[in-house]
Amino acid sequence: MSDLSYLDWPFFEQRHRDLARELDAWATTNIPHKHGPDVDAECRALVKLLGAGGWLEHAVGLRQAQPERSEIDTRAICLIRETLARHSGLADFAFAMQGLGSGAISLQGTPQQKEKYLGKVARGEAIAAFALSEPEAGSDVAAMQCSARIEGGDAVLNGEKTWISNGGIADFYVVFARSGEAPGARGISAFIVDAGTPGFEIAERIDVIAPHPLARLKFSDCRVPLSQRIGEGGEGFKVAMRTLDVFRTSVAAAALGFARHAMDEALERSTTRRMFNQRLGDFQLTQAKLAQMATTIDSSALLVYRAAWQRDQGRTVTKEAAMAKLAATEGAQQVIDAAVQIFGGAGVVSGNAVEMLYREIRALRIYEGATEVQQLIIGRELLKEQK
Ligand SMILES: Cc1cc2nc3c(=O)[nH]c(=O)nc-3n(C[C@H](O)[C@H](O)[C@H](O)COP(=O)(O)OP(=O)(O)OC[C@H]3O[C@@H](n4cnc5c(N)ncnc54)[C@H](O)[C@@H]3O)c2cc1C
Repeated sequence: MSDLSYLDWPFFEQRHRDLARELDAWATTNIPHKHGPDVDAECRALVKLLGAGGWLEHAVGLRQAQPERSEIDTRAICLIRETLARHSGLADFAFAMQGLGSGAISLQGTPQQKEKYLGKVARGEAIAAFALSEPEAGSDVAAMQCSARIEGGDAVLNGEKTWISNGGIADFYVVFARSGEAPGARGISAFIVDAGTPGFEIAERIDVIAPHPLARLKFSDCRVPLSQRIGEGGEGFKVAMRTLDVFRTSVAAAALGFARHAMDEALERSTTRRMFNQRLGDFQLTQAKLAQMATTIDSSALLVYRAAWQRDQGRTVTKEAAMAKLAATEGAQQVIDAAVQIFGGAGVVSGNAVEMLYREIRALRIYEGATEVQQLIIGRELLKEQK
């Protein structure tokens, strides 16, 4: 059982503390810690479960605490992701993608788009996906080639998207495409494409080290009405960045959840494994490892909830969110690696909790802006402040 005393920190309001404790109890009873081999079926079931539990309402901002400032309560999203990640990587993934996939609609959709999609996403009746990356445009998003030609009242999409989470099981995809209003980032628009729209296909399913639904998408003269565009033509890049701004801090929160789980496992192992006539934890070398792990976790948590709190105050968090993601994802990798070391051979056995965490954490240092991209953002912001 994790120590939840950090909930007393001043970043939180009482509703956040109640939410985290309630979810922790709910997850302990409802979320399976091990999942079967059919990852699509597992994900669909988890989305339904999270919807029925009412948790997905937070992912789409339907519980609006301060609607004039922000539709999404960043601290709530971060606490939910941290808690779910501590219980199950796939449950965190299911929650996160409902939020990321529908985030552009929550933040900038028309009343009709919100009406059509958000309720279903919140109830777990529709699965969402966010389609930004392309084979030749990952870190360099503005290099995207997928195009949207405007013809009458429609946009006609052509091109590819790759690494799309929920690809293959999503009911709709928020797709970013080059619509040509201006060169570079100012010529991109966002469209909602329903699964099954003619001209849209899943070109390839992709297997990764911590399995979850992932695919390459293909658009061939795929026609969507302009009523499915989010924001004005040419505003797509801004829409994508606003969405990522919210969810970047929550990736850090998920990493924190994985690290806390690894810490729990390491403490348990250190106090039960005996060698040389004492417990593993009685050795000072083990204590040094545990001390470093705990310090890394607390520093990550402070950065995560500073960024989340600051965003909920309506302030810019470009630098703070980047710091949180950088420190929490890199830190979690180190914490989990130390936990594997503490477990010895048992730590690398397939299915062991720390072995699963070891695979689970890796992609978080790459997606939604790799560590190097976060370093560049922080450096740029520091220099801007110096002017
Ligand atoms: C499991 C998983 C799920 C994903 N889900 C989604 C999704 O749902 N939707 C979506 O749109 N995308 C998704 N992505 C894509 C993800 O956002 C990209 O993988 C990421 O942006 C990196 O792009 P890339 O893979 O093309 O790597 P590249 O852009 O080729 O970068 C490779 C490496 O180069 C380094 N690098 C990058 N920029 C710099 C720089 N300026 N200076 C020095 N080094 C640099 C980094 O180490 C980086 O990891 C997902 C990826 C993964 C792995």
